[in-house]
Amino acid sequence: LSSFDEKPCVLTTCQDIHQAVAGARSSGKTVGLVPTMGALHAGHLSLVDASIAQCDVTVVTIFINPTQFGPGEDLAEYPRTLEADLASLAERGVHLVFAPANEEILPPGYSTYVEPPEVARPLEGRCRPGHFRGVTTVVLKLFHLIPAHVAYFGHKDYQQSVVIRRMVEDFDLPVRIEVCPTVREPDNLAMSSRNAYLTPPERQQALALYRSLSTAAELVGQGERHAATIRAKMQEVLVDAGITRIDYVALVKPESLKETDQITRPTVALVAAFVGQTRLIDNLRIGQS
Ligand code: AMP
Repeated sequence: LSSFDEKPCVLTTCQDIHQAVAGARSSGKTVGLVPTMGALHAGHLSLVDASIAQCDVTVVTIFINPTQFGPGEDLAEYPRTLEADLASLAERGVHLVFAPANEEILPPGYSTYVEPPEVARPLEGRCRPGHFRGVTTVVLKLFHLIPAHVAYFGHKDYQQSVVIRRMVEDFDLPVRIEVCPTVREPDNLAMSSRNAYLTPPERQQALALYRSLSTAAELVGQGERHAATIRAKMQEVLVDAGITRIDYVALVKPESLKETDQITRPTVALVAAFVGQTRLIDNLRIGQS
């Protein structure tokens, strides 16, 4: 395996990556896995840094999973920046990159899918039917191909992290899930590969997502407990910024993702909305006190 500051070893076949990771494990090394769809930014790299700090060997996967995109979504436009991604991973000291072609993961005739858990139903599950079926199927495959000790996910995709944790528990998968904090731009826009789609005015408009979430946090801080009141204010912040295509504004229990009526415990506030043609999501833990 390459050492720090050398180019990572890029593998493209299931057989090669499995062999490399199984070999590392059998020589006593701990393995961290960071699954991504590429177009890497500082959010992804924070997961990479966490893995490098905690594990002997870090494997980053770059695979734009077609099964997690719905019809009419941005699969064709999704940014592909492999060379730049490999350069940033080399800089971080990543050892192994798995960048398979579509047919390597989903060969002709592929037809087995995971039925996602209950927590996949609301929120993204409701707005993007089939999304979590695609996510869980490919993540399960990656977990088998890359027998890591730890897998790193971002809080940015909060529901995804809850869905993956549930799947790992339900299938007794021998991997520990670490969820790392959301990395934001200096003006608090959550980093996302999809931010590249935004025009300058849309980039400004997109700040309303975080403003909406921090409004929820502020209201709770001021003693407001009524979820419907808080949701209405969150919605107002988006609409005032000219965002009208809102998929959801939600206040949910952190584990079950069920809506809360009264904010008396830690809660996760989530928003999903279109800024122009670009669908963005963000979330914030609130009501911790
Ligand atoms: P993606 O390439 O969008 O599938 O994301 C790969 C992983 O990076 C997922 O676990 C995401 O939750 C995580 N991620 C994406 N954006 C951020 C961010 N801004 N901060 C932290 N993690 C992130």
